Amino acid sequence: MNIIDFHTHRLDATDALISVDPRQFAPQSGKWYSVGYHPWHRVDQLADSDFDLLEQCARHEQVLAIGETGMDTLRGGDLEVQAQVYVRHLQVAAAVKKTVVVHSVRTAQQIIALRHNAGLDSVTLVIHGMRGNGHVAGMLIDAGCYLSYGLRHNPAAVLATPLDRLLIETDDSPADINDVACQVADTLALTAAEVKSLALSNARRLLEPST
Ligand SMILES: [Zn+2]
Repeated sequence: MNIIDFHTHRLDATDALISVDPRQFAPQSGKWYSVGYHPWHRVDQLADSDFDLLEQCARHEQVLAIGETGMDTLRGGDLEVQAQVYVRHLQVAAAVKKTVVVHSVRTAQQIIALRHNAGLDSVTLVIHGMRGNGHVAGMLIDAGCYLSYGLRHNPAAVLATPLDRLLIETDDSPADINDVACQVADTLALTAAEVKSLALSNARRLLEPST
């Protein structure tokens, strides 16, 4: 497993965790995936059978994480429905013992509180596309989260992130992961190679099945 780009939607990406909708899951050899229903994509219309499909895909050996799932106050419709769908992803993650990739726009407190209220604090969360400030980063770190940064991020949050909780990603941008690594490296006064090495070892710790 060689994941440096922790979150992308590009199906041809290499050294990446590719996020796909379970209804479009068609694994290619040598690639790694996370599966989930994105909060922007009509999650109010999901049926029980869709969650059965999610769990089925979640057990696939090339699926290393669940998501992306989460909550977005600006897009994605009714927040109560988004919350319910997010918790169902957490339940699947607990059942298959995998990490969850979380999309959170102005919902950091709810993401953590919902996990706690569902009795699922043991499920590890990666907040992807982290754009919050240093204060939000600190709260999420205290809750055991990993934080994944793309090109658009708050440098204060990067500085507040312990190096063993730091990940990098391209998400839906055409950016090269090396550009992201360079930018984060500048903030941390490290080299891009050092940042990529940290991202790789953190991804391995998070995603490799503990046997
Ligand atoms: Zn995404």
